[in-house]
Amino acid sequence: MAFPTTRQSLEEHSYSFKESKICPSCEVTIEMWNTPKGNVMPLDFKLDEHQVEICVPHFATCKNPAMYSRRLQKKAQEKKEAEESSESLGDA
Ligand SMILES: [Zn+2]
Repeated sequence: MAFPTTRQSLEEHSYSFKESKICPSCEVTIEMWNTPKGNVMPLDFKLDEHQVEICVPHFATCKNPAMYSRRLQKKAQEKKEAEESSESLGDA
């Protein structure tokens, strides 16, 4: 399923608006939406070339996407651990 890209299609797919907030990393206004699976997803709303309001997940542009995603947090953690272990190999 393609991710819904308008408010109307979000609502049709059982997403619901939760709150607006400022991303602490990017200092831009984002909207938090409840997903059908019970998660909360940060979205950026903007106008496309046809002046239609569309949204994209804020992960795509966020300076610190791991803040919003457990999956990305895990990935970042794994990367950090991999870097640390390769550093210690380098020292040996
Ligand atoms: Zn951000």
